[in-house]
Amino acid sequence: MKPTLVLVGRPNVGKSTLFNRLTRTRDAIVADIPGLTRDRHYGQGRVGNKPYLVMDTGGLEPVIKEGILHAMAKQTLQAIDEADKVMFIVDGRQGVTAHDKIIAEQLRKSGQKILLVVNKTEGMATAVVTAEFYELGLGDPCAISAMHGDNIQELADLALVDFPDAEEETPESKHPKIAIVGRPNVGKSTLVNTLLGEERVIAFDQPGTTRDSIYIDFTHKDKQYTLIDTAGLRRRGQVHETVEKFSVIKTLQTIEDANVVVLVLDARNEISDQDTHIAGFILETGRALVIVVNKWDGLDDYQRDTIKRELNRKLAFLSFAQLHYISALHGTGMKNLLPSIDTAYAAAMAHLPTPKLTRALIAAVEKHPPPRGGMSRPKMRYAHQGGSNPPLIIVHGSMLQHVPETYRRYLENTFRETFELKGTPLRVDFKVGH
Ligand code: GDP
Ligand code: GDP
Repeated sequence: MKPTLVLVGRPNVGKSTLFNRLTRTRDAIVADIPGLTRDRHYGQGRVGNKPYLVMDTGGLEPVIKEGILHAMAKQTLQAIDEADKVMFIVDGRQGVTAHDKIIAEQLRKSGQKILLVVNKTEGMATAVVTAEFYELGLGDPCAISAMHGDNIQELADLALVDFPDAEEETPESKHPKIAIVGRPNVGKSTLVNTLLGEERVIAFDQPGTTRDSIYIDFTHKDKQYTLIDTAGLRRRGQVHETVEKFSVIKTLQTIEDANVVVLVLDARNEISDQDTHIAGFILETGRALVIVVNKWDGLDDYQRDTIKRELNRKLAFLSFAQLHYISALHGTGMKNLLPSIDTAYAAAMAHLPTPKLTRALIAAVEKHPPPRGGMSRPKMRYAHQGGSNPPLIIVHGSMLQHVPETYRRYLENTFRETFELKGTPLRVDFKVGH
């Protein structure tokens, strides 16, 4: 399980600058995708052998101008509560402010592990600039400059000191490990119950790697699946009307832990920012994806057409995923759900042989050569597979730094068609040399 670091602090202390420093990696899949709301509130990073998730609470909710000194807003408090470690950012140039003191008091009350981070200290003497922050009563301050990148590595090491190195890469399980995610009330637990109600559950209540989650193994037509079930999702045979509070952190960790994600949307509600944010994170992690539009029962043709059009427009960036219109409540439209999960899983784990990749590459280049970049034309020689879940295809050649994004996208589509990779994002990277 990846530890989650949560960044808090008043506006303008440098939270989002630090967030970008801590998450600079792995943007390849999500770069420039039209229609995708880039969520800059959560992301992932790694120091040494320690991967982590980061969440920036700045901008999680509108700043309440009046009375901001009196309460931290609800979502921020929830994030603090669920964090593995909280980084409290203050501004070394401004010194301690009244607002800082109030946040500090809330943080002390939370009982969480707090790391006090003094930002904007470039060119200043650490001991001098940090001295006054001891009065916040949160232990030794750590001086950094998020803008200049000073001391960031040390900060990350310090934040993760209590957490063990990532375990040795275990060989991936040979079957789909499924996360069912979505906003509250879209019908996730109904879907889980309907799915499991029809299948043979072979193991129940094995603790998962994510806090509050369990793994449920079941079989369908002699194939094995593992469902990652978060507490509150599974309410087998019981009718509860209590609304689970939505936990971003739990959702992120569950997506991380899975190899196939089922994103559940509610046909009775507009697609919201929260839906596209979750989708964005699924893309960022590169997990395979199946989309389910639930509550399809009781709608007339006109309503159904309208919803389909809205989905096509808003979720165009997820067109690689298969989509199912279902009623989890009535168990209709679900026949092809597990087969879609199989397809997505197989695509995510596909073995792509170098000769076949290279043939597809050469054919694509012959059909449409890459455009010239300045004086020279990029030359593509061969392609090989560099990873799975998502499949990573590395194209080798020369002058590849000039290949435009649109051409990368063209190659991606070519590989997707050649290998029939449905249901998984795909990465194409370029490598100059041999
Ligand atoms: P947030 O509101 O807490 O997310 O703060 P931002 O990350 O948006 O930063 C607020 C302002 O502080 C921006 O103008 C940043 O460029 C600036 N800033 C952030 N980090 C540093 C730093 O390390 N040194 C200096 N001098 N300015 C910084
Ligand atoms: P969760 O919060 O995402 O786990 O959502 P629940 O499974 O608890 O469902 C929320 C509400 O939507 C409940 O009242 C369900 O009975 C209802 N619901 C779930 N699936 C369907 C469906 O397919 N059709 C209709 N009409 N209602 C559904």
